[in-house]
Amino acid sequence: MRLVNQAGRLGVDVAGRFIDLELHSGKRFSSDPMSAFADWDAIRAWASKQSAGEVGPRVEPAKLGSPVPRPTQVFAIGLNYKDHAEEANLPIPDAPMVFTKFPTCLVGPNAEVPLTSNRVDWEVEQVVVIGRQALRVPAVKAWDFVAGVTVGQDISDRRLQFSGKPPQFSLGKSATAFGPMGPALVSLDEFSAPDALELRCWVAGELMQESTTANLIFSVPELIEYISKDCALMPGDLIFTGTPGGVGSVRNPRRYLVPGETIESEIEGIGRLSNRCVARD
Ligand code: ZN
Repeated sequence: MRLVNQAGRLGVDVAGRFIDLELHSGKRFSSDPMSAFADWDAIRAWASKQSAGEVGPRVEPAKLGSPVPRPTQVFAIGLNYKDHAEEANLPIPDAPMVFTKFPTCLVGPNAEVPLTSNRVDWEVEQVVVIGRQALRVPAVKAWDFVAGVTVGQDISDRRLQFSGKPPQFSLGKSATAFGPMGPALVSLDEFSAPDALELRCWVAGELMQESTTANLIFSVPELIEYISKDCALMPGDLIFTGTPGGVGSVRNPRRYLVPGETIESEIEGIGRLSNRCVARD
């Protein structure tokens, strides 16, 4: 199942057609994108019976919002790929490095991104969406608490991130539109191996990042066990699982985003984000 948020309404993308959840289910389900998790299994069963032959408008990329627009909590993981830790000249962490992206930064897959300085960087990431409340969940059971996965960009203003000592991550990664997501929330049954998905990022057409989520230092189940040991994860919560090597701030020479460039971020089986950078007013 591919759930999309088109103009604020939740629907299923069936072969490029938008099947509005509320309209086509006879109001059994709500069109509010945040309401899907309470009815997840029923919606999945219903969605599997929808066909593209149903009347439905086309999915319009320009109208898509974040498939999870208002999560209670957004967790993000730093230094979770070996090549990224190495390029940053930092040791491989012994424990997950957890910070937050404040939820107001979340936008749709094709939103424009106003640049807050001349040191804004890209980070393609797999984003895990929690399906039901998780507290003290062992890793072996952790996938049962995941509704699905999507693509995210953890856009980062390095000027703000490293403006003091120690660096502070959350604010520099939470400016307006610094969290593009989508294009769809894809349920786990769509993947033969949800823990081994290829991901890539291009800037202005140049391939900058290329890896697979199989290279995560701390896997999705390990992250859920680690976070939920102390902190309850709620339905709709997000985990940005970390970015592979290839970000701009540690390149030689350094490379940052400039207005007019487009960041494209893709994960196999999910789709692609396309975000044009613009000057901030
Ligand atoms: Zn990141």
